[in-house]
Order: sequence, then C-alpha cells, then structure tokens
Amino acid sequence: MRIDLHTHSRASDGTRTPAEVVHEAAAAGLDVVALTDHDTSEGWPEAAEAAAKVGLTLVRGMEISTRHNGQGVHLLGYLPDPTYQPLVVALQRILDGRNSRIPAIIDRLNALGYEITAADVRRVAGEAAATGRPHVADALIAMGAVRDREQAFDELLSPGRPAYVDRYAAPLTEMIRLVGEAGGVTVIAHPWGRHDPSGMTRDDIAELAALGLVGVEVDHQDHDSRARAELRVIAEDLGLVRTGSSDYHGAGKKNHGLGCNTTDPAQFQRLMELAATAAADSGRPAPELLRP
Ligand code: AMP
Ligand code: FE
Ligand code: FE
Ligand code: ZN
Repeated sequence: MRIDLHTHSRASDGTRTPAEVVHEAAAAGLDVVALTDHDTSEGWPEAAEAAAKVGLTLVRGMEISTRHNGQGVHLLGYLPDPTYQPLVVALQRILDGRNSRIPAIIDRLNALGYEITAADVRRVAGEAAATGRPHVADALIAMGAVRDREQAFDELLSPGRPAYVDRYAAPLTEMIRLVGEAGGVTVIAHPWGRHDPSGMTRDDIAELAALGLVGVEVDHQDHDSRARAELRVIAEDLGLVRTGSSDYHGAGKKNHGLGCNTTDPAQFQRLMELAATAAADSGRPAPELLRP
C-alpha cells in the first residue's frame, strides 16, 4: 500500500487541478493520497469525485500557515470539519493576508522595473482560493522575466530578496486546537525544511505534542538523511506518528514527484485511528475516508 499525505492543487499553489492530482496519484501507483492545499478546503469536492471514479482513497487535508516563536510553521490538518466556524474564520484571515500581500509584492516588483500587474497574477492563479508567491513567480515566468519558480524565489521573492513581503500567519498552538475542535488531527509539515526553517527543537515538538499535535512529517525532500534519522527518533520518543510525503506541486516544484516519499501503512493506520478519536471527542461522526 502506497500512501502520500501531502499534495497541492490549483486550489492553492500547485499547477494541476484537484482531479488531475488524483488521477496522477493513481497513475503513480498510489493507493492513498491526501490533498493538502495551503489554507483551504476548496479542492476537496473535486478531488473526492475523481477519487471515487479512479478507486483511490482520498484523505481531505490542508496545510495551514502558522507562526510559532516568531518562525513560520506549516501545519498539516487532516479530516477537520471544514464548516467549523472558528476554523473557517481563522483560515479566512490567513487567506485575506495572502490576498492583501500580492499588491505589495507587485509594488516592489514595479519599483524594481518589472512591469507586472495584479491582473497578470490573477490570470495565472486562476480559481486559486489561496494565492501566494508562486503565483507571482508564474506571472514573472509568463512575462519571460524569470526561467522558473526557483529563480523567482532565489532572486526576488524569498526572505531577504528585494520583492519579499511578509504576511499574516495564525498562531500555531491556536490552529492545533481549532483543527482538533473540528474533529481533525495535526502533523507538523517539513519541520526542518529548507524554505521555511521553523527552527523547531525536540522540546518545541514535545510541547506541541502535549497540546494535541499527533505527528511529524519525517520523510520530505527538504530533509536530508541525517535530518530524517533525527526526526524519526524524536517522533518515536514522543509517541508521534511519522509521515512521509511528496509535497507535490505539479510542475511548480522540482524533485517533488507524487510518491517520492510515502507514509508507512502502520503509521497511516494510527493517524486514522487518532482522527477517529478526535472526531468522536468533538461530537462528530467518524471521519469519512473516501474509499474505492
Ligand atoms: P507563500 O505561500 O506565498 O508564502 O509561498 C510559499 C510557497 O512557495 C511554498 O509553499 C512553496 O510551495 C513555494 N516555494 C517556496 N520557496 C520556493 C522555491 N525556492 N522554489 C519554488 N517554490 C518555492
Ligand atoms: Fe506551496
Ligand atoms: Fe509547506
Ligand atoms: Zn506543502
């Protein structure tokens, strides 16, 4: 059984539609895929329909933009009730921060001599509920100003580069709590990733586990073999679920092909058991896994 618990579609900064992600996941030999767009559940219905057609198990998830001790942390939330109002409100605040940042980035780029407009970014972002720097990068690619997203980030959009603009992110501990109240479970994404180094220590992770965090993404392309080994030990010591995933973004991220990292079936089973408990504790029915 091959399980990939972290992917993005055009609902955020992936380049494939939710249905395409699911079809490609099936073609890549995956049995289970989680759609985890940034800060939105917008892609779920389309992905669910596609999963039912191709006979793949879909886990409905999201990757929430949070902050902890002044550092950005990406939090994977699986199977929360997407209609739980406090969660809806918190996500909307993040999405508003994303949207209001785009004009600020465009101002910076204009000052640097790039003739890019909000309409250019909107065009490449399409229906995305969560807009982000990758969409600005795609608009720059369409103009012929940069080769790929990598170059756009390295030269312009990353922290410390001239067109970087910060944005709102929700308090991490509050989001762990809200996803739990919504009957879902949370896993820290790429805790030692290259692009958003959270600076998270074993003690930080232990504190979060005490607050309800259930897992850590160990196998991720941003983690080298030493980081993976260390994280694995931390997760085991703390009794946390260890996940592995691709963080697939379609053509938007190189070396992140579907299934390039996978989650051990026993770990997945535990994650789903914890989700069932979280659902029951929140007074909701057992989470529906869209099974073939
Ligand atoms: P934002 O959501 O606007 O803060 O942008 C962050 C997103 O940009 C991440 O989720 C990644 O998908 C993407 N990203 C960050 N750094 C790079 C990079 N160097 N090359 C390509 N994509 C990147
Ligand atoms: Fe992304
Ligand atoms: Fe991430
Ligand atoms: Zn991601």
